[in-house]
Amino acid sequence: MAGFDTMQQLTILGATGSIGVSTLDVVARHPDRFGVYALSGSSRIAELAEQCRRFKPPFAVVADANAAAQLREQLHSWKIGTEVLWGVEGLCQVSSAKAVDVVMAAIVGAAGLLPTLAAARAGKKVLLANKESLVMGGQLFMDTVQKSGAILLPIDSEHNAIFQCLPKGYDPSEQCGVRKVLLTASGGPFRRMPLNELAAVTPDQACAHPNWQMGRKISVDSATMMNKGLELIEACWLFGLSPNDIDVVIHPQSVIHSMVEYVDGSVLAQLGNPDMRTPIAHALAWPERIESGVASLDIIATARLDFGAPDLKRFPCLGLAIQAAKEGGSAPTVLNAANEIAVEGFLQGQLSFINIARIVADTLEKHEVSELDSLEHVQQLDTKAREVALTLIRSTR
Ligand code: NAD
Ligand code: MG
Repeated sequence: MAGFDTMQQLTILGATGSIGVSTLDVVARHPDRFGVYALSGSSRIAELAEQCRRFKPPFAVVADANAAAQLREQLHSWKIGTEVLWGVEGLCQVSSAKAVDVVMAAIVGAAGLLPTLAAARAGKKVLLANKESLVMGGQLFMDTVQKSGAILLPIDSEHNAIFQCLPKGYDPSEQCGVRKVLLTASGGPFRRMPLNELAAVTPDQACAHPNWQMGRKISVDSATMMNKGLELIEACWLFGLSPNDIDVVIHPQSVIHSMVEYVDGSVLAQLGNPDMRTPIAHALAWPERIESGVASLDIIATARLDFGAPDLKRFPCLGLAIQAAKEGGSAPTVLNAANEIAVEGFLQGQLSFINIARIVADTLEKHEVSELDSLEHVQQLDTKAREVALTLIRSTR
C-alpha cells in the first residue's frame, strides 16, 4: 500500500498539448491518488471538452470568451457541471486556488509565465514543463519559489534526470561533490543533413523528431538545438549552476536523459525509454514512485549508446543561448522572445529555417544587457524584443 492518505488535487495548464495529454494518461492510472481540479487549453476545444467529460474537473480555462461559450455549450449538452473560465486571469485563478495541491505548468512559451508564477507564489507543488517561463525571468521565478516555499520539480526529461542523479536534499550552496552536469541532446532531425540543405527544410521536416513526439514549437527548437540552449539556462536556475558547469553532449538514442559527474570521478546517469510519462510520473509522485505506463527499457535491443560533441556551426542557436546564459540579466529574456517570434515565423512559412538563428542573433545584437528588476521589466523586455524580431523578419522577406 502506498504511503499517501489524501488525494492530490491537480491543475493542468496546457492540458490539450503533448505534455498535458501524457499527464492525464498517468493521472488516469491513479484515480485514488490524483483528482483533477482544472484543465486548460487555448485551442482544440473539442479535445478539452472530451477531457472534461472524462475527468470532470470543477474548472476548465480557455483563451477567450468565444471559446468559453463554445465549451460551455458542449459541456451543458452533456450535463457536465465544469465551470468555464477564460484568459490569463482564469489561468492564474486555477493555478493558485486554495483547493489545488499540484500545478502542471505545460503551456508552451511566454504565455505560461504568469500562471506558472501564480502557482509558485501560492506555494504549490509546481511541475515545470514550461521552460520558457524560467528562461525569461529566472531570478524572479526562483525568488518567488524561495519566498513562498513552493516545491519546484522539473518535467523536462533532462532536468528530471539530473534531479534524480543529484544527492537527496541537494543544495547548490553546499559542497555536494558535484563536478559537472552532462546535458544530453538527440541532435534532432537535422543532425546529419548536409549543411547546404538546411535552408530549404520545411516545418513538417523540422517537427519530425526522431525520438520524441512533441508540440511544434519545441520540435523546431530541438531541430535548431535552441531547445538545448534553453535547457542549459533552465538547468543553471534549477540547480544553481553556472554555464561552465554544464557540458552539452549529443546522444542520438535519447536513452540516457542526462548525467551528473562527481569529484571522485563517478558519473551517474538516468536511463529510460524516451517517453515523457516517466518524468511526469516521477514528479507527480515524488518522493514516491508510481506506474507510468512506460514499457521497460530493452537495453539489449538498444545495444549501443553513442556520444559526440555538438557542432555550433550547424546549430548556431545553441551558441547564442550559451552566450546569453553567460551574459545573464536580460539576455535570456530577449533570446527567448526573439526565438518564439522566429519559430512562429518559420512555422508560418515567413522565414527559412536557417534564418531563425539570424533573427535571434540580430535581436540580441540590438539589445543592451541589463539586470532584471521586476516582473514588469521582464514583460517590457519580452514585448520589445518581439517587436524587434518581427521587424527584422519583415525586412528579410
Ligand atoms: P503543445 O503545443 O503540444 O501544447 C501546448 C499547450 O499550451 C496546449 O494545451 C495549448 O492549448 C496551450 N497554449 C498554447 N498557447 C497558449 C496561450 N497563449 N495561452 C494559454 N495556453 C496556451 O506543447 P508541448 O509539447 O506539450 O510543450 C509544452 C511545454 O512543455 C513547452 O514549454 C515545452 O518546451 C515543454 N516540454 C515539452 C516536452 C514534450 O515532450 N512535449 C518535453 C519537455 C518540455
Ligand atoms: Mg528536454
